[in-house]
Amino acid sequence: MRRVLVIGGSLGGLMVAHLLRSIGWDAVVFERNEEELASRGVGLGTHPQLIAVLKRAGIDFDESMGITPPRAVCLDGAGKIVIERPMGRTLSGWSRLYQVLLDALPPGTYRLGKRLTRVAQDDGSVTAYFADGTSERGHLLVGADGLRSTVRAQFLPDVQPVYAGYVAWRAVLDEADVPPDLWREMVELYAFCLPEGEQLISYAVPGRDNDTAVGHRGYNIVWYRPVDPETLVDICTDAKGNHHSAGIPPPLIRPDVIARVKADAKAIIAPQVAEIFARTTPFFQPIYDLASPRLVFGRAVLAGDAAFVARPHAGAGTTKAALDAACLADSIRDAGDDLHSGLTAYERSQQPFGHALVELNREEGAYLSAQLKPKAERTAGELHRDIGAVLHAHTNRSDQVGDIVAAHGLDVHVNSPL
Ligand SMILES: Cc1cc2nc3c(=O)[nH]c(=O)nc-3n(C[C@H](O)[C@H](O)[C@H](O)COP(=O)(O)OP(=O)(O)OC[C@H]3O[C@@H](n4cnc5c(N)ncnc54)[C@H](O)[C@@H]3O)c2cc1C
Repeated sequence: MRRVLVIGGSLGGLMVAHLLRSIGWDAVVFERNEEELASRGVGLGTHPQLIAVLKRAGIDFDESMGITPPRAVCLDGAGKIVIERPMGRTLSGWSRLYQVLLDALPPGTYRLGKRLTRVAQDDGSVTAYFADGTSERGHLLVGADGLRSTVRAQFLPDVQPVYAGYVAWRAVLDEADVPPDLWREMVELYAFCLPEGEQLISYAVPGRDNDTAVGHRGYNIVWYRPVDPETLVDICTDAKGNHHSAGIPPPLIRPDVIARVKADAKAIIAPQVAEIFARTTPFFQPIYDLASPRLVFGRAVLAGDAAFVARPHAGAGTTKAALDAACLADSIRDAGDDLHSGLTAYERSQQPFGHALVELNREEGAYLSAQLKPKAERTAGELHRDIGAVLHAHTNRSDQVGDIVAAHGLDVHVNSPL
């Protein structure tokens, strides 16, 4: 049986492992963290293509997987609805997907505490070397190790994430901690707040135990805020003065930074959402663009965020990782014994697709990125935002992502039989 070493045990790596197992490979996942990652949980948008690929992996996306708010609204600074549209997209949680994907893997195929340090290969095999001094051999290695991929760094050391000029503050509050009147008001809404130069989206998600039952859900907030590079250094510096250039771990964000963002929320965000935000312990992630010019290096390939990172506006990062996994499995299956031609087919397909997704999200975030430019240098689109267009883009997300998937011929992987 052919063996794949999957580096990175997040959603991308788990989906690669499932899809390659579905074509008869032995797949083992190596994750650098010592403990399972379920506590990362924040909200996650879904698309039909993600749900279809999960089905191919044997995972049924039933109603316990997410919450579908019926209305998208924009709230002004006073909390009044200024625009409203019907909405039918399901919002799930990162940890909800993680848990079902992990639970469905056979015992012993998900190894924690395994930090890859380097890859070596010869004509017939690839070897992964880990920080604990061990090594593993396989026929193929998939780098699903995210934005700062060790696999990518070895083969493409010059390819680096580019900071987009803004961060996403993220927060989730348990339903039980949201005042009941406020919960009733907000639970059915996919709610935007669009203060000048910024964008906030909030919605209900599965709760802490991945529960969608009444009383056990959560309320999720994503708030995009322009932050210049100097201020980014400051807010990524912890109370002991250590700067975390690759992103500050949430528990180390300084209390003064959190107090400031909460005060800003009170001043400029709709009071309903600001009140929920005030009760959370928020954290932030800088937003990056990343595009790898190549995805295949002999028997090592890149997938998911290791290959391309699109800004999160279309909420399609996990859908893209799912399509990478499905396309990789189909390309290898269709190439029979010729693994290299299968990998070439994978690269030929996922390279332009990844670029298109990065580009779509870059355009959507252009208004936010432009906030760091002097007003005189901004284009008309960067100066003025059309609230109706923002809402329209969000309520038609699945069509938008579906169009890109179809334009790149990836429907075939969504619907492919095993
Ligand atoms: C603010 C924000 C909002 C988002 N919202 C959405 C959304 O609504 N919908 C959506 O689909 N996507 C969303 N995404 C994107 C989504 O989280 C990712 O695109 C998706 O999870 C695929 O990630 P991945 O598994 O490829 O990489 P990651 O999730 O980054 O995982 C990489 C894994 O590799 C491990 N690793 C790294 N280096 C090594 C090493 N050397 N050895 C072993 N293991 C290693 C890491 O510990 C990690 O577990 C969002 C992203 C952000 C930042």
